[in-house]
Amino acid sequence: MNVLIAGANGKIARRLARVLRESGHEVRGIIRSPEQADSMRELGAEPVILDLEQEVDWSVADGSDAIVFAAGAGPGSDPERKQTMDLGGAVKLVDSAEAQGVGRFVMVSAMGAADPESGPEKMQPYLRAKAAADERLAASSLDWTIVRPGSLTDEAPTGLVDVGVPSLGRRGEITRDDVAAVLAACLELDATVGKTFEVLGGETEIRKALGEL
Ligand code: NAP
Repeated sequence: MNVLIAGANGKIARRLARVLRESGHEVRGIIRSPEQADSMRELGAEPVILDLEQEVDWSVADGSDAIVFAAGAGPGSDPERKQTMDLGGAVKLVDSAEAQGVGRFVMVSAMGAADPESGPEKMQPYLRAKAAADERLAASSLDWTIVRPGSLTDEAPTGLVDVGVPSLGRRGEITRDDVAAVLAACLELDATVGKTFEVLGGETEIRKALGEL
C-alpha cells in the first residue's frame, strides 16, 4: 500500500512511518519545511513539501492508496490556526482524496471531539475544529476511520488498548507508539472502515480490539 501521511514529521507520524515501512508499505510524508526532508528519507519515507494552510496543488494525493491525517497546529497555537490547520488542512486533504480517487482515509482526531462544549474552555476551539473536520470526513465518499485518542504520552509502547465506539465514557492516556500501531492496524483491518472510536491505553491487544469494532 502507498500511504500518504500528513504532518509526517510529527511525533505520532514519525512512529507511524517507521511501523508502515517495517510492514513493507510505501510511505510519502507531507512536511512543510524542506529542512525535514533528509530526516524523512532516513525513515524510508519520500518527502512531499507542502504547507497545508496555503493554497497548494492538491493533486498531491494522486497515486496514494490511503491517507493518514496526523498533522496539527499544536497546543501553543491560537484559535485561528485551529481553523486553518486542524480544520482547513484536513478538509483540503479530504477534498483532494475524493478528487484523486484515494479510497482510504484515517483521521487522527481527539477524545473530546464528540462533544466540544463539554471540554475545558481553553480546548474548545481545538475540539470544535476537530469535530468539524471529522464531520466532513464522515460525510465523504471515502472509506474513512476516525481515531480519537486520549492524552498522548511518550512512554514505552504497551500494545494494549481499550476502544469505545463511538465513546469510552472516560478520559485517560495512551502512548504515541500505541496510537501509531492503532493507525497502522486501521489501514489493514476492514472492521475499522466507517467507524469513529475513542482509544486509550488498556487491556486488549490492538489488532484484536480493532478487529472486533
Ligand atoms: P505533533 O508532533 O505536533 O505533529 C504535528 C505535525 O503537524 C508537525 O510535524 C507539524 O509540522 C505539522 N504541521 C503543523 N502545521 C502544518 C502545516 N501548515 N502544514 C503541514 N504540516 C503542518 O503532534 P503529535 O504529538 O504527533 O500529535 C498528532 C495530533 O494528535 C495532534 O496534532 C492532535 O491533533 C492530536 N491529538 C493530540 C493529543 C495530545 O494529547 N497532545 C491528544 C489527542 C489527539 P512542523 O514539524 O513543521 O511543526
